[in-house]
Amino acid sequence: MTITTGKTGHLTIGGADAVALAHKYQTPLVVYDVASIKEQIKRFKQVFEEQGVAYEVSYASKAFCALAIYQVIAELDCHTDVVSGGELATALKAGFPAGKISFHGNNKSMAELEFAVKAGVGAIIVDNFYEIELLKQVLQEQKATAKVILRVTPGISAHTHEYDQTGQVDSKFGFDLASGQADQALEELLKLEQIEVLGLHAHIGSQIFEVGGFELVGQKLMEVAHAWTQKYGYVAKVINVGGGFGIKYTAEDTPLAPEKFVEHIVKVIKQKANEFQMEVPEIWIEPGRSIVGPAGYSLYTVGSRKDLPDHLSYLAVDGGMGDNIRPALYQAKYTAVLANDPLKTATETVRLAGKYCESGDILVAKAALPETKPGDIVALLATGAYGYAMASNYNRNPRPAVVFVEDGKDKLVIKRETYADLLALDLPYK
Ligand SMILES: *Cc1c(COP(=O)(O)O)cnc(C)c1O
Repeated sequence: MTITTGKTGHLTIGGADAVALAHKYQTPLVVYDVASIKEQIKRFKQVFEEQGVAYEVSYASKAFCALAIYQVIAELDCHTDVVSGGELATALKAGFPAGKISFHGNNKSMAELEFAVKAGVGAIIVDNFYEIELLKQVLQEQKATAKVILRVTPGISAHTHEYDQTGQVDSKFGFDLASGQADQALEELLKLEQIEVLGLHAHIGSQIFEVGGFELVGQKLMEVAHAWTQKYGYVAKVINVGGGFGIKYTAEDTPLAPEKFVEHIVKVIKQKANEFQMEVPEIWIEPGRSIVGPAGYSLYTVGSRKDLPDHLSYLAVDGGMGDNIRPALYQAKYTAVLANDPLKTATETVRLAGKYCESGDILVAKAALPETKPGDIVALLATGAYGYAMASNYNRNPRPAVVFVEDGKDKLVIKRETYADLLALDLPYK
């Protein structure tokens, strides 16, 4: 959350003036600093390289899915995760290599599996027995083969500072380990000639600040891999420990650096490999938020204001829950700055309100800002993950435009919706 400013004193994003971008493209506007995206990926990769282990960094594209992001990710030789036919179609349209795509989901449809197999995705992350049946049918029909990774529920869950080793058996995702469902799934999959089982996957949560949960999951997956070698002679090539690496939204957030997460994950997996006299498997991670979150900024124009004698004032901007539902959905916190002068000392605390017809449409419950006037540009920091991705047309507001900036140059990558776009699917009844 380092704030940079230019000659005018305005906030800069990737070397471009945020206020100028807001005027050029209108607001609300989502702006990504491409260098920051690349930097985060490099930081994750660096430690794997130093440690000399085979690995994949697979961008969890549900955090922000668009042609442009797949193109940036592809340039850095990453994998990507998709969770729907729509995300898969977007990745393929962007020219993302199918062999580097993992397909996730707890209820993939027949049509989605057909699409994924036909496209030749690199891994289908198999989640449940119903999916195995569907996949069998698809492979028979298409006379195709598929590589799969078994998603298991390790009984570990993590959120920010806490993790829990016994809880979270009760999850809608993956095969339960404790009750033997995962063993049974492997047995079924090993019988199928058209399927190659690459390895094991688990994902324990999101916005995790500490490494303990990842260490537990790495150890657990290695123990399962070892048990499967003993029981079935099966050797897992890939251990995928999922994503969930935390980022800084406000000054109170203190996540570990990407390097630290990877360092610890590699260490425990190497230790277990040594203990079990196994080869060190390929280690896959699936960061989403930590790749695009810090790189994103939401720009809004200040509009109306409501002052009350005994309560915080409401300062309204021209966006809100339609372009970022996270504060309304789960009290997510963000930092707001005045893009016209982001280093100016804050003189008041206001509620930064959206324009949607919900009292809960408050973007920042306590925003410390200098004095503002209508027309000023306010920026929310670190909005790059699960913001635009979850955008809606609630109140029939068009979704914002998205701009990528690199080396000071801006490029529109998603157009602002028009009223015509909003009406494109409607058909008259009479
Ligand atoms: C959502 C998700 C991720 C990414 O989580 P982040 O918190 O964005 O890093 C990774 N893997 C799986 C399976 C997920 O569902």
